[in-house]
Amino acid sequence: MKPPSFEFHSPQNLPETLELLKRYGSDAKILAGGQSLMPLMNLRLVRPKVIIDINRIAELAYINAAAGGGFATGALTRHRALERSGLVHEQNPLLAAALPLIGHIQIRNRGTIGGSLAHADPAAELPALAVLLEAEFVLCRFNGQRVIQAKDFFQSYWATALEPTELLTEIRFSVWNRQCGWAIQEISRRQGDFAMAGVATLLMLNGHNTCENARIVLFGVGATPVRIEKAEAALQGTRLHSRDLTEAARVVSEGLDPDSDVHASSAYRKEVAGVLTRRALEAAQQRLVEANVA
Ligand code: FAD
Repeated sequence: MKPPSFEFHSPQNLPETLELLKRYGSDAKILAGGQSLMPLMNLRLVRPKVIIDINRIAELAYINAAAGGGFATGALTRHRALERSGLVHEQNPLLAAALPLIGHIQIRNRGTIGGSLAHADPAAELPALAVLLEAEFVLCRFNGQRVIQAKDFFQSYWATALEPTELLTEIRFSVWNRQCGWAIQEISRRQGDFAMAGVATLLMLNGHNTCENARIVLFGVGATPVRIEKAEAALQGTRLHSRDLTEAARVVSEGLDPDSDVHASSAYRKEVAGVLTRRALEAAQQRLVEANVA
């Protein structure tokens, strides 16, 4: 299958890219890894008049430790580069565990973190992780930039806060709390498929071994990543006993109203989201025990 014809630009640097975005606005689409855009164009589901290929802009592909802890990554950084980065494994083991769940190695060799976030597939891992980890995104336009929280970026199915003239350039992850328990769980029909439902979680204890802070974000069960604050609140102040985890999982399942599609019914997604949450909370708690925190 071949895409409809388009005008092609291959800028050499960031200012040139932003100038092109200013000139063409919503007529243009950025081409990063092409793993989502090219299939959509080949199926004629999107028909951009102009393609701006950012693959030559080396300054957009990096993983750098941040001065105060945490790290920043350029939008053009490939999934595989993040997956293989010692800095990512050391600074954010949860993100490192999530990356191999994205498609297959061939897809991760080309696909980029910026492309995945800008594409905003509700079943994708990285948007959910960005919300869970409270990441910050840098959006650049011709005459300036803004920084936006991940939770404010994802607006609906494949829809984000990006303006047509803006480029996502950098993603910032804050310092990793080594005292936290974490886990990611998902279910898909085959290895490498998008998840029918998934969940990522973080658990933090206070000095008295009670849960001080819990974060739970689901994916594949709504229009955007879904943070379930009611379930997080249900865990706070508990000792994370088995009954506490079960109750939080029940609250998650109850709070969801997923769509049905060819892959799974709404009822299945709702049920399995609760089961996955229970498993993820158990795994996160186990990590707290192994780290001698609990
Ligand atoms: P592209 O396809 O190049 O672009 C995607 C969209 O983002 C386009 O609209 C483009 O204009 C825009 N865009 C790209 N970069 C920027 C930027 N810097 N600023 C502004 N807009 C930008 N993903 C998962 O998360 N989980 C999976 O399990 C999974 N399985 C897959 C299985 C298959 C068979 C395939 C083909 C893909 C799969 N993917 C999966 C998608 C993959 O992760 C893609 O890499 C990702 O969705 C898009 O990244 P990309 O760099 O290829 O972006």
